Amino acid sequence: MTPHPIIELEDVLLSEARNLGMRLAPELTAAPLYVLHARTLPTLPRPVDTLAYVAWCLQPLRQQLEQDGHWRGPGPAIVFVADGQPREQHLATLIHEVAHVLPHTPIADVAPTQENCAAEMAAIEVWARSEPAHDRPRWAPHHDIQWHRRLFHLWWRLCLLDRIALPLGGLTGHQYDLSSAAFYWQALGSEPLRMAEATFAEIEATPLPAGFEAAWYRDLEIWMQAHPGAVNTWSAK
Ligand SMILES: [Zn+2]
Repeated sequence: MTPHPIIELEDVLLSEARNLGMRLAPELTAAPLYVLHARTLPTLPRPVDTLAYVAWCLQPLRQQLEQDGHWRGPGPAIVFVADGQPREQHLATLIHEVAHVLPHTPIADVAPTQENCAAEMAAIEVWARSEPAHDRPRWAPHHDIQWHRRLFHLWWRLCLLDRIALPLGGLTGHQYDLSSAAFYWQALGSEPLRMAEATFAEIEATPLPAGFEAAWYRDLEIWMQAHPGAVNTWSAK
């Protein structure tokens, strides 16, 4: 049977994404990195308004991978949701998600049971239907300052590795209640160049460049001033 051309292209992109992910952060080779498409996971709920998400070896996901003969041991899983994305968008989504699975942390090997599958499935269903909160900046809680730092490092490594000038503009900025990506990139200074060979644990253990941190807290202050009612219900740590 001849595969549908879009599916064939997406399979190539998924396989490329898996290889790229491990080359951008070699520490990820310490465990399997699953890069999947939601259409191959029919038992899992498909979140709305999401290009992709990270599944931390969720038991229902493991169960499905075991059934399909694709389970290779505990490891983070990136699940693409959107269909027919151009390669550039695919790569932008990839580094977004890889920034979520770093720094690398080993995942416990817990076999799926009826109970843990049911509990996790209920949690995924709640998450898949959840609406964004309005009492906190849009970066909170999953796209914090360290996530942004990782994103820029990954972007830089990807541009060098793939010889692609992936536009910075779509990666972050206003959609997270922050200044532009170009502004933050500048504030990060030469760190991505100096730490191009470092693991992301080593990067995280290094103090943030002062300009980058100052930009972040200035943006937070602007947001808090614009949302005085929210400041007492949400505490930015
Ligand atoms: Zn994210």
